[in-house]
Amino acid sequence: MPVEPAGSVLTDHAVAVRDGNIEAVLPAGEARQRFPGYEQVDLPEHVLIPGLVNAHTHAAMTLMRGLADDLPLMRWLEEHIWPAEKRHVSAQFVRDGTLAACAEMLRGGITCFNDMYFFPDAALESALEAGMRSVHGIIVIEFPSAYAADAADYLRKGLEVRDRYRDERLASFCIAPHAPYTVADASLRQVAVLAAELDLPVHMHVHETEHEVQGSLAEHGMRPLERLRRCSPRPSRGMRRRCRRMTCCAQRLSAARRRSAWASVSARFAPARPPISPRSHCAARNSRPFTTPCLISCTPQVAST
Ligand SMILES: [Zn+2]
Repeated sequence: MPVEPAGSVLTDHAVAVRDGNIEAVLPAGEARQRFPGYEQVDLPEHVLIPGLVNAHTHAAMTLMRGLADDLPLMRWLEEHIWPAEKRHVSAQFVRDGTLAACAEMLRGGITCFNDMYFFPDAALESALEAGMRSVHGIIVIEFPSAYAADAADYLRKGLEVRDRYRDERLASFCIAPHAPYTVADASLRQVAVLAAELDLPVHMHVHETEHEVQGSLAEHGMRPLERLRRCSPRPSRGMRRRCRRMTCCAQRLSAARRRSAWASVSARFAPARPPISPRSHCAARNSRPFTTPCLISCTPQVAST
């Protein structure tokens, strides 16, 4: 099932794969003639689709699944998650948690994810080990953790990771200030400058709860989105997620500003390369990677009578 043309379904087709790249998509019969030496993989009860993209993850938190569930966001964060992270999170925790998350994502057909978490280099290594494409946030948050001491330290370490892995084919980076309520104005201004200078997208939680909006009004005299706009003199490539409670804010903006605000929060997430990875998706289904040239076909099998 290709992405384009929209709505099209190719039946009795095969995908030829060589060296991890799609070589051709063609009718199954023609594929067998054109690629006679290729290993054949028949998936009669499957639909073959391009890899899915998970645009917002804290992948290593898979290890915290179920911890104090069903609580309001701030109680969940302040009373449970942040204390647990203080006790447990380390590079090894992130490596193991991200690897477990990758296995789970691959089983669901996800081949690319956009992550925001401590120790991004450990998460990146796990994504590479799993053969997944990934985007890693250079995180910014004001409070200390096992990973960094303050906002400047988070930025410095994140940029160092970006420099170290900048030629990595399957990994890319964005700047990820955690949320308006955990990042100060000075850091937000620095994020805006760096995003513009380095041409990096920004990945951030914005307008998640009514509590966040009311807190911003009380502390800063303006809603979070307006505060972000004032801290960002030039629009950067937006990649924000989990935006809710937008309507009132958007209604107060002028038509032109409204257009740009909506554009910037519309999760414009475009991986550097197409998220097509037949290896990852099918490897998950078959528990093995395609290391030799192969033909993958989803042609339904006709039961013999
Ligand atoms: Zn999140």
